[in-house]
Amino acid sequence: MHEHASARRAIDTMIRSGDLEGLLREAEALHGHRCPMLALGVKAGQYALTQLFPEGEVHGVTAIIEALNCFADGIQVVTGCTLGNGGLMVKDLGKTAVTVARPDGAALRLLVRPDFRERLFFKYPTVRPLFEKVVLQGTADHEERHRFEHMWSAMARRELDTPLEEQFLIKSLKIKAPHAHGRPSGVVCSQCGEGVAESRIRVKDGQPFCLACAGESFFLLTGEGITSAPGMELV
Ligand SMILES: [Zn+2]
Ligand SMILES: [Zn+2]
Repeated sequence: MHEHASARRAIDTMIRSGDLEGLLREAEALHGHRCPMLALGVKAGQYALTQLFPEGEVHGVTAIIEALNCFADGIQVVTGCTLGNGGLMVKDLGKTAVTVARPDGAALRLLVRPDFRERLFFKYPTVRPLFEKVVLQGTADHEERHRFEHMWSAMARRELDTPLEEQFLIKSLKIKAPHAHGRPSGVVCSQCGEGVAESRIRVKDGQPFCLACAGESFFLLTGEGITSAPGMELV
């Protein structure tokens, strides 16, 4: 068994045994709260890995998410594909969906059904006015926020038991074998003296510059998505 597998032994065991509650607890530690979309991320990750790796040992997996939201954290915890280890890719389409792929390109895409939120409010009607005040309008008082968090958390737990096909549209596909790139900071900027990944270096008059010192735009990943940020002037 290689190192990665042993580092994630507890989570791998939960995946294989279908311990969704255990996985949701792990995800909550990263995410900071328990919510229905986090639960869906956990379920999508667990389902995809058990389908793609029926023998058990998960290796070389890539996850491509299509939006930055609660779902993404469930995916990261369960699949082990993170922003830091190169296993996670972000296609900024604003869709709550994930494609989980094996090294040979065999993949599953799970898209949260477009009517998921409406169905949720239909099942738990008392949460809708609270959701509007807390999440959409931001006008809730302390007591309302507290009540909302309790309901939201209980719903997350209950959504674990809801059949997958009520929550997702699932498709199997073949994608070009994904490849995780390492980005070591191997070059030193001639201006600020900071280490920079080679792919982010611009050469001016034969000297290496980081994007900030070169005044060039760069990509900025925020909760809103990925945008191109204008070059910053160095003070
Ligand atoms: Zn959340
Ligand atoms: Zn610099």
